[in-house]
Formats: sequence, C-alpha cells, structure tokens
Amino acid sequence: MSFKAIIVDRDADKKQSVRVGTMDEADFHEGDVTVAVEATTVNYKDGLAITGKAPVVRKFPLVPGIDLAGTVTQSDSSDWKVGDKVVLNGWGVGETHNGAFAEQARLKGEWLVPLPDAFTPKQAMGIGTAGYTAMLCVLALEKHGLKPADGSVVVTGASGGVGSVAIALLAKLGWHVIASTGRVEEEAYLRDLGAAEIIARDELSAPGKPLGKERWIAGVDAVGSHTLANVLASTRYGGAVACCGLAQGMDLPASVAPFILRGVALLGVDSVMAPKEKRLEAWTRLARDLDPSKLDALTTTIGFDDILGAGKDIVEGKIRGRVVVDMAGA
Ligand code: NDP
Repeated sequence: MSFKAIIVDRDADKKQSVRVGTMDEADFHEGDVTVAVEATTVNYKDGLAITGKAPVVRKFPLVPGIDLAGTVTQSDSSDWKVGDKVVLNGWGVGETHNGAFAEQARLKGEWLVPLPDAFTPKQAMGIGTAGYTAMLCVLALEKHGLKPADGSVVVTGASGGVGSVAIALLAKLGWHVIASTGRVEEEAYLRDLGAAEIIARDELSAPGKPLGKERWIAGVDAVGSHTLANVLASTRYGGAVACCGLAQGMDLPASVAPFILRGVALLGVDSVMAPKEKRLEAWTRLARDLDPSKLDALTTTIGFDDILGAGKDIVEGKIRGRVVVDMAGA
C-alpha cells in the first residue's frame, strides 16, 4: 500500500532536491518494526536536511525526519507488539535510514522507547529531539553535582527548541534562569516559560576575553562558537556548561583559562547515539518535570504539507519554540 512521504534526492552533479511523493513497503529500509506515524516535528537538523544547507542526509533517495511518535502496526521484535505507542529520536533515522516525514516508518525495535503515559504523540513531538536534548543537558548538570541553590543558569538560543524546553525544565526545578536571545521581542514568551532575566544575544556572540566577571554557575548552550566561549569565561568557580549545539558555529574560539583557573567543566551532550538507558531516564524525567501548560505554550502545530516551509524557516531562525506536525491531515 502506498503512503505519502517527503523525499530528498540528488542528481548526477550531487545537487540535492526535495519533493513530496509516495512510497510503498518496498522502499522501507531494514528494520523489524513498522510504525504508523501519528506525529513528527521539524528540528534544526531537519531544516538542514530539507534545505541541503549541511550534509545531514548521507544516503539517497531518503525520507528526512529524525523524530516520530506513533503506533506499532507490525512487529518481528520481541520488545514490541501491534498497538504499542512508541517514540523514536535519532539513531541516524532521517540521515542514513528512511525517517519520520512519511505516514509509515520501518525501524529497528531497539531504537524505540515507549511513549510515556504522560504524553500524547503530539505532545511527545512538542518535546522531540530538541526537548529530549534539553533534558539530557539538565541531567548532565545535575550529574556534575549542580543544584539551583548554587547560583543561576544561563540558556543560550533561548527562543529555539532546545532553549525553550531547557528554560521550562530548569525553572520548574527551581533554577534562576538567565535567557540569552537575539529576539528581545520574545521577552514575554521567555518569561512565561520561566526565565527570570533576559540578556541580548550580542552580549555573548562577539569575540570576548579569556575570563570575564563570574555571572552563572551553570549553562545550557545550543549555540557554540564565541557564545559558548563567553559563557565559559563567565562561569563561576566550579561550575559547568552543557554544550549541545552549533546555531552560531561549530568552532570554539576559547582559552583554557576557565578550566584551569576556575575548574569549570564543559559537558558534551549527544542525543543521536545516546544509549537506551539514558533515553529512558530523560523521557521519565520529562514526564515528571515538564509542565504540560508550558509545553503547549512553546508548541506550534502544522500539517504535513507545511513541513518543507518550516524546514526553511528553522534554518533562518524564524521558528519560536517547537513545531509539531500532526500527521492526521497527511
Ligand atoms: P532552533 O533553530 O530551534 O534554535 C536555535 C536558536 O539559536 C535560535 O532560535 C536562536 O535563538 C539561536 N540562534 C540562531 N542563530 C544564531 C546565531 N547565529 N548566533 C547566536 N544564536 C543563534 O534549533 P534547536 O533548538 O532545535 O537546536 C539548537 C542547536 O542544537 C542546533 O545547532 C542543533 O543542531 C543542536 N542540537 C544538537 C543535538 C545533540 O544531540 N547534540 C540535539 C538537538 C539539537 P534566539 O533567537 O533566542 O537567539
């Protein structure tokens, strides 16, 4: 039976293109579980895959989309049975394995986690890889031993997906959250999510000094480059920064001063290949620590036909919070 899908392809000159088309089961990649996709989302990485601005797609033709939530319709895996509600984040899906921007997906059972009872498929995609990564950042700071009583936390790329969910989580956990944004017009949105202070993105994005005034004990950085260097330079003695993104750039023009003079730690966070145990911990904590009303406030819902436009918008920094794709209208 054929189903609708977004397909990224490239020509003999390696020029990438994207179209809405149809596929059938013969197009499935290797896997032991078939999932009817009920909701998906558009992450920054999906925007890069759709626009071809970075080599996210590494096999052609390919269905992009790194996140999905849905129901198992066929299973040869002992872990899953027909009717189970599941979530998929990453594992190279939407990069080298046909992904989420299709009505059906064939996946490996070991990649899936159960949809937490606390969430509908659409809510889980309101979280998506960006939100699950925000939770991994919070867990990394906690595992470093940091707690709200130690001082404040800065969140960069604040109105983006990782940033918005990180603010909501950290504020609920009792942190004094300083949100760094290039969109000061979003102040009310950020304060509603729980930000206590707003600072302008350009305070952090230009080349800075090796060490600055100690301003925060912790950081969640989705931006990289000079921003991360400046966040580190202003982190208090013994603090830590969880680094997960590169919205400003992949470079890190920093010095060792914060590490060797203030004992600051840089905590790397990867969601794509994170082991299952870590994913289950993150989703359990999201169910406990993410206020559903804040999740609603940071989510915009679109239809399947809007995915390509949203992909372009997210790489241009025009998307606020998270975008959920409701597949019901596909
Ligand atoms: P979004 O596009 O939703 O958010 C990124 C935010 O960064 C923007 O909203 C903007 O926030 C800020 N920003 C954009 N451009 C610049 C710039 N040139 N300089 C400084 N700030 C900028 O993306 P996501 O939140 O989905 O992802 C954020 C980053 O994290 C991406 O680089 C993504 O690839 C990465 N990521 C990594 C993961 C991992 O496993 N390590 C998983 C998920 C995401 P504002 O307007 O408020 O300033």
